[in-house]
Amino acid sequence: MRAVTFQGAKDIQVKQVEAPSIQTEDDIIVRITSTAICGSDLHIYLGGMPAAKDYVIGHEPMGIVEEVGSNVTRVKKGDRVVIPFNVSCGHCYYCSHDMESQCDSSNRNPDVHSGGYLGFTARYGNYPGGQAEYLRVPYGNFMPLVIPESCELEDEALLLLSDVLPTAYWSVENAGVKHGDTVTVLGCGPVGLMVQKFAWLKGAKRVIAIDRVPYRLEKARRMNQAEVYNFEDYDDMGLYIREITKGGSDIVIDCVGMDGKKTAMEAIGQKLKLQGGTLSAVDIAIEAVRKFGTIQLTGVYGSLYNMFPLGHIFERNITLTMGQAPVIHYMPELFKKITAGEIDPTEIISHRLPLEQASEAYRIFHEHEDECTKVVLKP
Ligand code: NAD
Ligand code: ZN
Repeated sequence: MRAVTFQGAKDIQVKQVEAPSIQTEDDIIVRITSTAICGSDLHIYLGGMPAAKDYVIGHEPMGIVEEVGSNVTRVKKGDRVVIPFNVSCGHCYYCSHDMESQCDSSNRNPDVHSGGYLGFTARYGNYPGGQAEYLRVPYGNFMPLVIPESCELEDEALLLLSDVLPTAYWSVENAGVKHGDTVTVLGCGPVGLMVQKFAWLKGAKRVIAIDRVPYRLEKARRMNQAEVYNFEDYDDMGLYIREITKGGSDIVIDCVGMDGKKTAMEAIGQKLKLQGGTLSAVDIAIEAVRKFGTIQLTGVYGSLYNMFPLGHIFERNITLTMGQAPVIHYMPELFKKITAGEIDPTEIISHRLPLEQASEAYRIFHEHEDECTKVVLKP
């Protein structure tokens, strides 16, 4: 089959690889019809999340069930399914307590002690990803969201249930956004844009959006009526936010993570120059939040960030929340919101390209060309 493979930093190639097959009686094989590129894939693309050569990337897929293991009763051949990025067994303590992103069975890597994620390198379970013609999905009785036959929505309306929508929804919940809060959202990529929308739905009284890319800021303003700032226009974006909010934002949600404009090596270089200071978004967050406020880190950080400025956070009684979103249990609720017309995820999809053009697609998404906000690949 054809699949999107990692070859090296900024080197993505569509290659012929062995098609997946059923390995345990709980597996299913899905023929992928649509599969999106995520900001998280950019961490792999830039070398910030080390991957082996020829590793198949992708964790935002949907498609048609092609084959099921002998134990699978929840789905059958021909069903249309959306696959969440969390690999989750459905039985362990975490899966039974709505914390599926830390499933105890899904990652055997003893160095990490975290859950496993599709297409997210050997560190997180070594599962081949979903930017491919076919995908093996473990735990077929728990992971897939089955789309009822009566649902006539196109893939694009449903695809982001695999990650972006539940991640954004969870971010706002996990941060504890409540009625009357001022919420500052760092990043106006797909995740940030949806976080801004959900912050309003949770009752925020003010939503501030920050980025450096003018068309993305404009999108945040138009799509979400956010108050927008380009951090490159300010000497200290965080302090400015503290000023205009008279003491700081109640909540800051970081939807950036490791700076997508730099390769990991460039970031390490900058960090050394700063003599142990942290980089970019998380610095802004620490300055912008009010005392006793909350910073939610949804953007992904790796071991580069182990020298975190704990002192500042302690001194100002800041609460830090973070992690990989447990997307699975939000999928049915958000599916209902989509079918009821309450949210329209197609608003953030800007590009549709054949899988064969993945290399070009990664470049456009990463370089912010052609007003790109989200790319869907079609195998
Ligand atoms: P994206 O790369 O499209 O968006 C990031 C945006 O942040 C870009 O528009 C960029 O210009 C902007 N940016 C860069 N530096 C900034 C700064 N200092 N301040 C403000 N904005 C800045 O990515 P995305 O798909 O929206 O994903 C965003 C982040 O969320 C990524 O780190 C991704 O890995 C992460 N993510 C996490 C989860 C989770 O479960 N925690 C799930 C999905 C994605
Ligand atoms: Zn993703």
